[in-house]
Amino acid sequence: MDLSDSSGSIDYNLLRKTVREFGEKHVASLAREIDYSNRYPRELVRHMGSMGILAPNIPEEYGGAGLDLRGTCIVLEELARFSGSVSLISEVQGTLVSHILAMYGSKHVKEDILPKLASGEAIGSYALSEPCCGSDAANLETRAERSKGEWVLKGTKTWITQGMYADYFIVFARTGDRSERHRNIAAFLLKRDKCITTSPIEVMGFRGTGTAEVVIDDCRVGDDEVIAGPGEGFKIAMNALNVGRVAISALATGLGIAAVEEAYNYLSNRVAFGKPLIEFQYIQFQISDLVTLLESARAMTYRAAELYDSGYGDFPVIAAETKLYVAPTVARIAGEVVRLLGGFGFSKESNAERIYRDVKLLEIGEGTNEVQRIVIFKHISKHGLKWMDYP
Ligand SMILES: Cc1cc2nc3c(=O)[nH]c(=O)nc-3n(C[C@H](O)[C@H](O)[C@H](O)COP(=O)(O)OP(=O)(O)OC[C@H]3O[C@@H](n4cnc5c(N)ncnc54)[C@H](O)[C@@H]3O)c2cc1C
Repeated sequence: MDLSDSSGSIDYNLLRKTVREFGEKHVASLAREIDYSNRYPRELVRHMGSMGILAPNIPEEYGGAGLDLRGTCIVLEELARFSGSVSLISEVQGTLVSHILAMYGSKHVKEDILPKLASGEAIGSYALSEPCCGSDAANLETRAERSKGEWVLKGTKTWITQGMYADYFIVFARTGDRSERHRNIAAFLLKRDKCITTSPIEVMGFRGTGTAEVVIDDCRVGDDEVIAGPGEGFKIAMNALNVGRVAISALATGLGIAAVEEAYNYLSNRVAFGKPLIEFQYIQFQISDLVTLLESARAMTYRAAELYDSGYGDFPVIAAETKLYVAPTVARIAGEVVRLLGGFGFSKESNAERIYRDVKLLEIGEGTNEVQRIVIFKHISKHGLKWMDYP
């Protein structure tokens, strides 16, 4: 997919148009079935790979579209207008898994594995959360011990998106005592093998994304599979989550757009008390409020992406603030839309019903609202109150 303008830079308008057309043609008709049947859309994933939008941030030299975070946000927002699940697949494959491998992987990892993740030949998972520890990830229990020149990994990961179908898992494990918390956590790349058992977890939203418990039972890997050594693993886990928090905010705004559009279209046609509901000023005010909330969430998301792309130093706190605002805002929008649609909104005939279930995860995954607040206040404690300089 060539998305350059005449100067060779990314043409963001063309990117948005291309992904929207792809969504209309190939994602919209599958969204309901992915949700109802909890079906992982394997063929669509390959198709997205062939378009460069499965892991859009993978550099071009490794088979990706080489998009910056702004471009990645456009892809995720547009995909989410048609299916949150499809957008989440791209977010995990690209922003979490491929981001880490592109930044920290060895030459072999980059040359052999990234092209497979870009094309959809291989599926990747990011495995940090455990039954003991989600928000408190630095307390994780999975162990990596040295034996006969190899690392032996043992532990259980949970809630892992794409876990049921992953060929590769980025696994965070500790190499020493648990009391050392993040200081001895390393990151490993595990290929699916007999030592890995995955079992499905039934979830209320983002169905069809292969959410799984992953049991790692004495998996042996060499030094080539170490992505980050002891003490560095937790940093790269957090680095990916910082980017993920903005990416997932773009996914959220895509869900918000789909919900508000459904409300506007429905209320324009639904007649009550002798006229279309949209002609009541109360309803017009509601739509105006939702559009305003949504545009503020979108502005914050794209601003955060641009700050990342320009190398802004305090990006982690911007990412936390963005997710803390955007996820609850879109959850509120989805709730209002379900109500505005009346009985239709409560039925599985509407998209709003699915969006309402999907959007709840965005206040939990990649750090709950409380975790974002912890990140923000840590920054305030360290640097005092610091405001953005707007020129
Ligand atoms: C569908 C789905 C997909 C997921 N995909 C992945 C994935 O691909 N990879 C992965 O590694 N993880 C994944 N997760 C896990 C997700 O990141 C965790 O669920 C999340 O981090 C929260 O952890 P927890 O569930 O253990 O909740 P807990 O940490 O037990 O938190 C429970 C509640 O307590 C609050 N809380 C916790 N600590 C504090 C505190 N100090 N102060 C105030 N309140 C606090 C939390 O905000 C939350 O409301 C996924 C989760 C879901 C549901």
